[in-house]
Amino acid sequence: MSRDLSTINSLAAVLVNPGKPLELRHIPVPKVGSRNVLIKTSVTGVCGTYVHYWKGDVRLPYPVILGHESIGCISELGDGIKTDSIGNQVAKGDRVFWVSSLPCGKCYYCMVEKDLTACMNRKSYGNLWCCDEFPYLVGGYSEYVYLSEGASFIKLPESLDDREAIAFGCGGPSITKAVEWAGGIGQGDKVVVQGSGPVGLYAILLAKISGASDIISIGGPSHRLQVAKKLGATLTIDIFEKRDPGERIKQVLEVTEGRGADFCVEATGFVGAFSEGIEMTRTNGTYLVVGLYSNVGNASIDPSKIVRKNMRIVGSKFWEPRHLYKMMHMINQVKNEFPIKDIVSHTFDLPHATEAIEAVEKVETVKAILKP
Ligand SMILES: [Zn+2]
Ligand SMILES: [Zn+2]
Repeated sequence: MSRDLSTINSLAAVLVNPGKPLELRHIPVPKVGSRNVLIKTSVTGVCGTYVHYWKGDVRLPYPVILGHESIGCISELGDGIKTDSIGNQVAKGDRVFWVSSLPCGKCYYCMVEKDLTACMNRKSYGNLWCCDEFPYLVGGYSEYVYLSEGASFIKLPESLDDREAIAFGCGGPSITKAVEWAGGIGQGDKVVVQGSGPVGLYAILLAKISGASDIISIGGPSHRLQVAKKLGATLTIDIFEKRDPGERIKQVLEVTEGRGADFCVEATGFVGAFSEGIEMTRTNGTYLVVGLYSNVGNASIDPSKIVRKNMRIVGSKFWEPRHLYKMMHMINQVKNEFPIKDIVSHTFDLPHATEAIEAVEKVETVKAILKP
């Protein structure tokens, strides 16, 4: 692998100190080796976890170029790479969605369990990779991203445009994997989705397409709940209006014939949602916890409820390339039935990356993206 620097620089927004504005830096682009790919970033999402990264709730190997959900065009392709990660022929100029996670392929979870999401030595673009280390361009908040050997990327279907593909960000593949992990949503299921950010919105769309009969979206503010309705929510409960969890639980029980949800998805990022979700899930039901990744804390529950309700509580983190593939092709199939493109509510450029994160923190956005 060559480590010579070519003459191009890439403008990048870098998280150097939590709580401080992202710094703009010009970073030299390394020369592309035979097993590497250089991508010119077209769009990159502002994930809800960046609010936590930015505040310092999760420690990262600073300085870090954020951006773990990104689409771009192949600018340089190593001569050893002929296809994307699922076997499609690729050439310079092709649009691809690259996968942030880089598993080691050698640990117990990679080799015995065959679960790349549980890799013990995982590197991750956009968060767990210091940009002072080779190959430097290791996050989507940069004009160029350098894919190391083994990094996955998938060619976009031609008929799927960038805004549609990025609309749910990492929430799309995360929910695709999580719902699969939990055994799937069934026909006629009554589904509760806690949280109406991109993760929750994709759970609503997936429930709708899976044939759920009732989809109750609990979240806010109202502009997000309006989108939830367009994606298939049959009832919305605005947490800014109905502030008492007891009232929300009562309403869910009323519309689920007194039992609660067959399948409940936590996509809030608020620890307090956990005990509420337990109450909203019916006997023999499934409670899927996805959103509480960066939000550490203790929730108070009576564990006997889990026993007496025969409950399945399933946690899920990350996703594999196949989940991204499934999500992209599903969206491509339904994009004319649902207003996928409109989910992208805010677009920023790199110099305004900090403002983008602030807009997500204030819940002004449905989905914010950057165009480097
Ligand atoms: Zn994310
Ligand atoms: Zn591994």
